[in-house]
Amino acid sequence: MSNLDKIFIDGRWVESSSLEILDIINPATETLVARVPSGNSQDVDEAVAAAKAAFPAWSATSVQQRQQLLLAIADGMQARFDELAQAVSDSMGCPLAVAKWLQIEGPIEAMRLFAEHMDAVKWEEPMHDSIVVREPAGVCAFINPWNYPLHQFVGKVGAALAAGCTMVVKPSEQTPLQDYIMAEILAEAGVPAGVFNLVPGTGQNVGAHLSQHIDVDVVSFTGSTRAGVEIAKAAAPTVKRVTQELGGKSPLIITASADLEAAVRFGVEDVMINSGQTCVALTRMLVPSGSYEEAVAIAKEVAESLEIGIDDQAFLGPMSSQLQQQRVMAYIEKGVNEGGRLVCGGETQQVEGKGFYIQPTIFADVNNQMAIAREEIFGPVLCIIPYTDIEEAVSIANDTPYGLSSGVFAGSESEALAIARKIRAGQCYLNGALFDSRVPFGGYKQSGNGREFSSLGIEEFLEVKAIQRNVG
Ligand code: NAD
Repeated sequence: MSNLDKIFIDGRWVESSSLEILDIINPATETLVARVPSGNSQDVDEAVAAAKAAFPAWSATSVQQRQQLLLAIADGMQARFDELAQAVSDSMGCPLAVAKWLQIEGPIEAMRLFAEHMDAVKWEEPMHDSIVVREPAGVCAFINPWNYPLHQFVGKVGAALAAGCTMVVKPSEQTPLQDYIMAEILAEAGVPAGVFNLVPGTGQNVGAHLSQHIDVDVVSFTGSTRAGVEIAKAAAPTVKRVTQELGGKSPLIITASADLEAAVRFGVEDVMINSGQTCVALTRMLVPSGSYEEAVAIAKEVAESLEIGIDDQAFLGPMSSQLQQQRVMAYIEKGVNEGGRLVCGGETQQVEGKGFYIQPTIFADVNNQMAIAREEIFGPVLCIIPYTDIEEAVSIANDTPYGLSSGVFAGSESEALAIARKIRAGQCYLNGALFDSRVPFGGYKQSGNGREFSSLGIEEFLEVKAIQRNVG
């Protein structure tokens, strides 16, 4: 990785106009791994101007040209697989082996798939007497969080390149490193100067300025609901399109007919992946009251078997920062004060005297009105909630301001599917199914709007024009 002291504008690595710096700290070792510029509004103006200037030529490229380019980018990512994994592992603190399968493999596949999804877009179609064409929406601004930094990069950049848009990317201030590698990969694959620009920095400086910028046509944001609301407000005066992928508090309904052992194991591991820092984590496990204590016992056993650390066999790395560790610990304390039964975990931990780890934590005797059942904790904390019948389970599942994800574990797929149809959320994982970037991803309610991945993810970056012919 090179050029970490620069930002990427108009196809070149240039100095930032800002003198401020972001320190990238590995939360497992608490050491400084890199320093990058913390950009300012002048950097944003220059990056947006470059993206605007590149738009006419880039938006006129053919679908086939862009498909070839996406495949070349995916090849470039594959060639630098280990570097990408190291970059994410260094800034997130997660074990390198976990970074490889959880953080890198999927995004490479997703980048490749965008070339395929382009075939499903109706770029031009006759409609009554008219021709309806789909055209690139313009200059896009992408504002990303830290938890799955390459997934989020690809979900936006891959889709926007497919659509024919130009862009400015602002990674999270905690995890910009893989974006530096991606800037090189894109350039080497042949993305023309100005089409892709990278300006790291804070939300207050770079993020806010991008959101309100007059020459930005689309803002696509992933992160907290709090920041999503601020971005939408900043974008409103210029009437730009805003897509939001926000937080979640997702339910997993386990029915009486399910294999309880398999269902609870899936549910616990699902929450603990990436140390609970996953927007789609199924953090509310809904269990029939007749099997409640058995489910709690299985959950405890599974949670206690998951190893913390940086070695390859470890399942959980640390929280992404000390601040995140403090936030999660405050929720654990709140859960205890609210009357939740702390079944296991609940403590911070260190590995070789370092790191902002939290033990896998299970709360029983949780009711859905407690803060730990309503608010997104974003840590390795699972709440187990009893229910009496499926109607009540569905009602608890839907009793949340969020609607990002959900899961159902039942004795048969048809039973699970019938329940899935009643849940108001953008995703529903049946009987242990996992995230799949071939299908649309996004939230209902306060989990956001718009979709990423699939051809719908590309459509977020397209305008629709109806060319109406006079047929007398
Ligand atoms: P965050 O909202 O604090 O920050 C996300 C990004 O927004 C960062 O780049 C930050 O600099 C920027 N930002 C913050 N305030 C801003 C403002 N006022 N204007 C412009 N930009 C601003 O979130 P985070 O702590 O980095 O990430 C965790 C959150 O992301 C969780 O709530 C999680 O659920 C959510 N998330 C959602 C999805 C999804 O697809 N729905 C995926 C991953 C994470």
